Amino acid sequence: MSHTLTIEPTGESVAVEEGQTILDACLRQGIWLPHACGHGLCGTCKVEVADGEVDHGDASGFALMDFERDGGKTLACTATLRSDVTIEADIDDEPDARRCPVRDFTGTVVGLEDLTHDVKGVTIELPGDGIAFQAGQYVNLTVPGVEGARAFSLASPPSRPNRIELHVRRVPGGRATGWIHDTLALGDRLRLSGPYGRFFVRRSAAVPSILLAGGTGLSSPKSMILDLLEQGWTQPMLLIHGVRARRDLYDEALFRDLAARHPILTYVPVLSDPQPDDGWEGETGFVHEALQRRFDGLYAGRKAYLCGPPPMVEACIRTLMQGRLFERDIHTERFLTAGDGDAGKVRSPVFRRL
Ligand SMILES: Cc1cc2nc3c(=O)[nH]c(=O)nc-3n(C[C@H](O)[C@H](O)[C@H](O)COP(=O)(O)OP(=O)(O)OC[C@H]3O[C@@H](n4cnc5c(N)ncnc54)[C@H](O)[C@@H]3O)c2cc1C
Repeated sequence: MSHTLTIEPTGESVAVEEGQTILDACLRQGIWLPHACGHGLCGTCKVEVADGEVDHGDASGFALMDFERDGGKTLACTATLRSDVTIEADIDDEPDARRCPVRDFTGTVVGLEDLTHDVKGVTIELPGDGIAFQAGQYVNLTVPGVEGARAFSLASPPSRPNRIELHVRRVPGGRATGWIHDTLALGDRLRLSGPYGRFFVRRSAAVPSILLAGGTGLSSPKSMILDLLEQGWTQPMLLIHGVRARRDLYDEALFRDLAARHPILTYVPVLSDPQPDDGWEGETGFVHEALQRRFDGLYAGRKAYLCGPPPMVEACIRTLMQGRLFERDIHTERFLTAGDGDAGKVRSPVFRRL
């Protein structure tokens, strides 16, 4: 049995199945609601129930306090419907967002490549029309025997919806990434859903872009750059890819070749801990330090896209803001893991809005 959910102020309606959360129902209809942790912990997806009855599910008492429940609030990521319901949601007007409904897929692994000693390139063939997504978005992968799904950003361009590429770093002690590295084989079937996320290029602002990647945080910028080049983008793009040492660097030949063929692309690999036998003559330091050396430390009039481990993203936000690029022009994707603890803390403490 399903109920009807009406979302104000847009007035759109979706059918919500028994036991399905408000957030899941909306994303599967291509309606984006603000959200972050997905488990009732952070409160980012708080909405007002204007009419009807909901079950709050596993919403934490901190993310949704008693007075808020009494005052008609709920969390879209845990709430299910007990009747037809109308909610008031804080939907921002994002002109560059495409409507890409979340769907479930079972794909076949057709490519496995050791990109580095701890990064595996995984290519998955999807059935039918494949996945419609915006460059920069991610999928949730389900791994046999591991509870819950794991997020991995799409490294391939949207023009290849049937053959997606993921870059998977082995997390020490990580169950899913350990399985992907040690057990996953060609021909295996994998379940995934997507696309998710609001990390995509804001094309309506036709300005130069700064793409900052740490480790496998190269995945989204790779998809974005391939997509923009395919679309004939004419604005300058600077990609800085930070890793520890030479053995951690991958796709170097690809980006050197792209930069040689496309004058709008500048590619800067940077090593934070080059080894004596690396023979490295390129840039050294952290990503934000390589960034600081550019544009006289002033970044206004650009858009920045930051992707990778949370400390790298935070350091880059600080550098960009010190160089007069502000929140509205900085877009981020943090590669959180269960070890990062507070899964809801996805907005920068440097940013004003929460
Ligand atoms: C939007 C997004 C996109 C991402 N894209 C990519 C990508 O493209 N490529 C990529 O490599 N990674 C990406 N990541 C990160 C990736 O999702 C994680 O590395 C992955 O979920 C780890 O799964 P796992 O099962 O191997 O690790 P888990 O088993 O979940 O463990 C992860 C770490 O947390 C520790 N841990 C586990 N449980 C707890 C606990 N309860 N308390 C404290 N510590 C704990 C473990 O020891 C381990 O160090 C992305 C993350 C996000 C949020």
